[in-house]
Amino acid sequence: MSDGCVYLVGAGPGDPGLMTIRGRELVRRADAVVYDNLAARRLLDEAPPQAEMIYVGKQASAHTLKQEEINELLVRLGLEGKQVVRLKGGDPFVFGRGGEEALALVEAGVAFEVVPGITAGVAAPAYAGIPVTHRGVTSSIALITGHETPDKDESDLDYAALASWPGTLAFYMGVKNLPKIAASLIEHGKDPATPAALVRWGTTARQETVTGTLSDITEVATRAGIKPPALIVVGHVVALRQSISWFENRPLCGKRIVVTRARLQASRVTQQLEDLGAEVIELPAIRIEPPADAAPLDAAVGDVSSFDWVIFTSANGVNAFFDALQRAGLDSRALAGVQVCVIGPGTARRLGQFGLRADAQPKTYKASEISQTLAAIEDLGGKKILCPRADIAPKDLIEDLEALGADATDIAAYRTVGETPDPALLDELFAGDGPDWITFTSSSTVTNFINAVGLDRLRASAASLASIGPVTSATMRGLDLEPDVEATAHTIPGLVEAILEAQPPREQ
Ligand code: SAH
Repeated sequence: MSDGCVYLVGAGPGDPGLMTIRGRELVRRADAVVYDNLAARRLLDEAPPQAEMIYVGKQASAHTLKQEEINELLVRLGLEGKQVVRLKGGDPFVFGRGGEEALALVEAGVAFEVVPGITAGVAAPAYAGIPVTHRGVTSSIALITGHETPDKDESDLDYAALASWPGTLAFYMGVKNLPKIAASLIEHGKDPATPAALVRWGTTARQETVTGTLSDITEVATRAGIKPPALIVVGHVVALRQSISWFENRPLCGKRIVVTRARLQASRVTQQLEDLGAEVIELPAIRIEPPADAAPLDAAVGDVSSFDWVIFTSANGVNAFFDALQRAGLDSRALAGVQVCVIGPGTARRLGQFGLRADAQPKTYKASEISQTLAAIEDLGGKKILCPRADIAPKDLIEDLEALGADATDIAAYRTVGETPDPALLDELFAGDGPDWITFTSSSTVTNFINAVGLDRLRASAASLASIGPVTSATMRGLDLEPDVEATAHTIPGLVEAILEAQPPREQ
C-alpha cells in the first residue's frame, strides 16, 4: 500500500457554494485533480498552483477517456503516492460511476475515501422551487437514469414499476429520451395530467425551468429548446413551484454581465451581481502594476511622519502605500501624527483593513471636493500633503491644494496597464447577441476593453453599457459610445443599483 490516496469527491450540482467544506479542503491540498465536465469550473481555482489538473471530461456523445482508462489513471496516480482528488459533478455515487472507480482502487490496493456531494436530482428541483418530498403530497423520491444505450431496443427500466411509483420521479440524463420517458409512463398507466418539469443547468446562473404535464412536457421542452444537462422531475410536487420558486425570481437572473475591473478588485462587484442572480464574466481590461520608478514613492513613504496629510484617492493607492511602508521596515504607526483623507467608501474600507480610520472624506465621491473638505478642517497654508496616486491621475487635485497654499507632493504609487483578454473567450462572449451588460469602472477599463473587443463588434452586440460616473462616461462618449446607465453614486454599489433600476419590471 502506498501513501497515496484517491478522494472521490462530489463537486455538487454547479453552484460553487454547494460543494462540501471537506471537498474544498481536499482540493486545496491536492497533488492532482482529475475532473470532468459538469463540475463547477471555479472550484478548480482552489487547487494549489503546482497541482496536476487532468481533464477526463465525459459527455453523453464523446468520451474523452474511457471509464477503464480513468480507473487506471486514478490507480496510477494513487500508486505514485499522490493525494488525488477525483472531482465529479453532484454526488460521486449517484450516476457518477464512482462505485466502479472505488472498486478499481480496492483491487489495486490504493487507499481511497468518498466525499458525498449534493446530487442534481435534489438540488436542481430545490433551486427551481420544487421540494422533492412534501408532507401530504409525496413521501418518496426515485432517482432514475433516463439514458439508454442507443442500440438497445428494450429499456432497462421497469416502466410499469415507475408508473405506479407513488412518489417523485427524478430522471437524470433524460433530455434526449424525454418523448420516450413521458410516453412510456403514460402507456403504463401514469396519469397524463401529472405535473412535470425540466430544470436545465440547475443551481447555476444559467438555470432554466419549464413545467407542464406528462402529456405536454415534451412539446413544452422542445419549444423552449431545452438541451442537456437537465433534470426531469415528474410528480405533484412540481405544482409547488408556483408558490416556492425563488432562484429565478432574483432581479438579474439569466443576465450575463461583464466585469472589466482588474482581477484583484473584481470580487466585490462580481459578488454583488451574482447575489442578484447574474452570471458574471470577469474579463479584466486592466491590471495594476508598481510604478516604473518606485524610488520617489519609497522616499516619500519612508519620510511620511513629516507630512501633515496623506490623501488616498483609490484603494490601489492605499495598497501601494502600505507595500512601500513595509519595504521601508515601518508599519501603520508611522502615520501616528499624520491626518488621512480618503476619496470614498471603498478607499476607506481598504484603509480600515490596515487598522486606520480616515480623518476626512468628501461628502460625494469627487476628487474636486477633496481640497475644500480639508480646507474646512484647517487652513492648508504651508501644510505638507502627500498624494500617492496613479501615474496618470489628473493634476487638478494638486493644483487645487497648491492654490490653497499647501505644499503638495504628487507621487506615482502605481500604474494601470492594459490586460489582453483571451481572444477565444471574447469570441465566445460576443457570439450571438453578446453579453447583456458590460460594466466600466474607470476610463482605463473603457479604452483597454474597446481596444481588445473592437468598436464594431461592441456596436453590433446587444450589450448595454454601464458607467460608474461622469469621467468614465466622458471617455465612452469620446469613442462615440453612449452609456445606457450612469451610476448616481460613483461606487460599486451605485453601479449595481443603476443596472438594477434599468431592468424592466418583471411579469407576474
Ligand atoms: N453525479 C451527478 C449526476 C451525473 S449524471 C449527480 O449526482 O448529480 C449527469 C446528469 O445529471 C445530467 O445529464 C443531468 O440530468 C443531471 N445534472 C447534473 N447537473 C445538473 C444541473 N446542474 N442541472 C440539472 N441537471 C443536472
